Amino acid sequence: MSSIFSQIVAGDIPARVVYEDETTLAFLDANPLAPGHTLVIPKTEYERLNDVPDDVAGDLYATLHALVPAIEVAVDADASTVAFNNGEAAGQEVPHVHGHIIPRFSDDGGAPIHGIAGDPPGLEDDELDEIAAEIEAHV
Ligand code: 5GP
Repeated sequence: MSSIFSQIVAGDIPARVVYEDETTLAFLDANPLAPGHTLVIPKTEYERLNDVPDDVAGDLYATLHALVPAIEVAVDADASTVAFNNGEAAGQEVPHVHGHIIPRFSDDGGAPIHGIAGDPPGLEDDELDEIAAEIEAHV
């Protein structure tokens, strides 16, 4: 069973495509949080960012990089929030990697990305050192 986004890639369901190349596709979100809210996907279906092979990850970033200024100009936005819900616990509903580009306006009443997580954990310096070392060891 292919994801809803794979069905868009295949042309089986319609979408307002704004950009396409060999490996990536970008189209307007069907339930936009702002005018110009766009999703950027790899054409091949991978569930999470960490499943995307290096070369396609580069392509994905290049498409985000090209689209952010294009979208901001198109809808006269002041800024944009660019984010991935990476996994179900983070709010990912469609199991096909997608970056959200959400145009932002100085008076939109929204929040920065700091507003999306739960209560801050209040970590001590030694805990931060330990976490940093653990991450470094797993890269
Ligand atoms: P997620 O929560 O998985 O990060 O976001 C999924 C996004 O996909 C939502 O913002 C939702 O509005 C959008 N979406 C879901 N189904 C469709 C669809 O069929 N077409 C388009 N264009 N967007 C969709």
